[in-house]
Amino acid sequence: ATPTSIMAGSGRAAELGVLFKGGEHIEIAHQMDVVVFDKTGTITKGKPELTDVHSFEMKEEDLLYWIASAEKESEHPVAEAILQNVKEKGIQPTSPEEFIAIPGEGVRVTVSTKEVMVGTRRLMKRYGIEISQSEPILRTWEEEGKTAMLVAVDQRLAGIIAVADTVKESSKAGIARIKELGLEVRMLTGDNERTAQAIAEEVGIPSVIAGVLPEQKAAEIKKLQSSGYKVAMVGDGINDAPALVTADIGMAMGTGTDIAMEAADVTLMKGDLQSVADAFAMSKKTVSNIR
Ligand code: ADP
Ligand code: MG
Repeated sequence: ATPTSIMAGSGRAAELGVLFKGGEHIEIAHQMDVVVFDKTGTITKGKPELTDVHSFEMKEEDLLYWIASAEKESEHPVAEAILQNVKEKGIQPTSPEEFIAIPGEGVRVTVSTKEVMVGTRRLMKRYGIEISQSEPILRTWEEEGKTAMLVAVDQRLAGIIAVADTVKESSKAGIARIKELGLEVRMLTGDNERTAQAIAEEVGIPSVIAGVLPEQKAAEIKKLQSSGYKVAMVGDGINDAPALVTADIGMAMGTGTDIAMEAADVTLMKGDLQSVADAFAMSKKTVSNIR
């Protein structure tokens, strides 16, 4: 490997907005077998919108008031989607007296002395809330690629909501190019299996690892490595940082969090999956020039 060809390769990659932190990474990238993609903010835009609301007992407006109040202190993109939507409807949420965020599951708050929870099936199960009546609607929404969440007020299932996040315009074409380069592709997400499958199908990813808690993402990368794969990980969030470090090559969206970029070996300035394909294509070119 001549330093000159690596310099030239890094320079050309940089012109495409692909920043390799060190020359060694442009060589290592060529050895990867599989590329693992985070879903939210990496394959999708990461700006979900509230699409569906179903209330079991109370007026929809009241349900939205409780949900918005529960999410008022949350920093999750889902919370942002909910708060934006209720604002447009003129609903004014109340700040909760007590707020607990449960990573990868949802929120649990006390507001106006009521206990309100919004989140996944797992969250509801944890607190013994009966949710079976919601299952048919949840499934329908999830098959549409939406993220569905359950709402409990004072330990009773009060309603369900869904948010949808749009796939980035270039995700499908980027993934097709990566596959053409001979790499395997997989999705890794905290979202549920059905939603993940729907999004994966839309962009041409044949294999998903879903329902993974934030602190378990790195362990999933290790599992792949111990079955003999060289693994590249692509992500954007704080959640992804340990997985980006663990992977043989970590790639961060330049549009994502600083923590992800610090953890990664490559920063993709355009924040899209065509840039991931560019990174591997540049690596291949550089290495074949060396030989
Ligand atoms: P992702 O991998 O999609 O970024 P997370 O690991 O952050 O997802 O969360 C996993 C799931 O937990 C979300 O899809 C959502 O259903 C639920 N969740 C997380 N935070 C919240 C919240 N503030 N309100 C409601 N649901 C939440
Ligand atoms: Mg993400």
